[in-house]
Amino acid sequence: MLPTLFLSHGSPMTALEDTPARRFLAGLGAALPPPKAILVASAHWEAAEPTLSAPARNETIHDFYGFPRPLYELRYNAPAAPALAARAVDLLNGMGAVVDHARGLDHGAWVPLLLGWPEADVPVAQISIQTHLGAAHHLTLGAALAPLRDEGVLIIGSGSFTHDLRRFRRGVALDAPETADVTAFSAWMNERILARDVAALADYRRQAPYAVEEHPTEEHILPLHVALGAAGAEARAARLHSSVEFGFMRMDAYAFS
Ligand code: ZN
Repeated sequence: MLPTLFLSHGSPMTALEDTPARRFLAGLGAALPPPKAILVASAHWEAAEPTLSAPARNETIHDFYGFPRPLYELRYNAPAAPALAARAVDLLNGMGAVVDHARGLDHGAWVPLLLGWPEADVPVAQISIQTHLGAAHHLTLGAALAPLRDEGVLIIGSGSFTHDLRRFRRGVALDAPETADVTAFSAWMNERILARDVAALADYRRQAPYAVEEHPTEEHILPLHVALGAAGAEARAARLHSSVEFGFMRMDAYAFS
């Protein structure tokens, strides 16, 4: 069976710049069995209720500003996955899920997919996150989607392991040394993830050191809870990748199987 994944998509420049995270993402598709379809819970789609994308065709959304022109020329033309969207809405019966027939793919989805599945031949749908409802809600959301794994769907949560963008300064080196608080938060999270301590991860905002500093808003870590929930309580966790960019943005990735 396919694992569920948590991926850190990082800056949109991950699509173009040679970094350790980009090299990891570029090898991902070849390392996994081919999925029938992919469902991405991206940090960059927040909505009041769980919303599934099912457009006629997937537009590539360039939802970022001030980056080099070649980034805006990238397209990821994977087919839409309306049947997957409809199935997910059924599974989320009781959580008020709806379908959006216009939404395309934001960079939280297309940056990792462009690297990992460059043929763009696997149908893709996105599911929105509900940042205001916190970690426990996203564990429940993921658990409701768990049957999709048996149906050949790869569930990906796409966010960032740490994400305090206020620390970004122009000119800071990509390989700047990691700050101590980022190390402490990431170590706590990694330990709890590998121990499958779902209760602690549901309460990470109180328990993890510097949780509020690393995630001033929660949208980039909640996709982790979706992937964790979708894998089930007995899932084994494996860290697939770990690196840091600019000293503050951890690019860690996990598989749950
Ligand atoms: Zn992002």
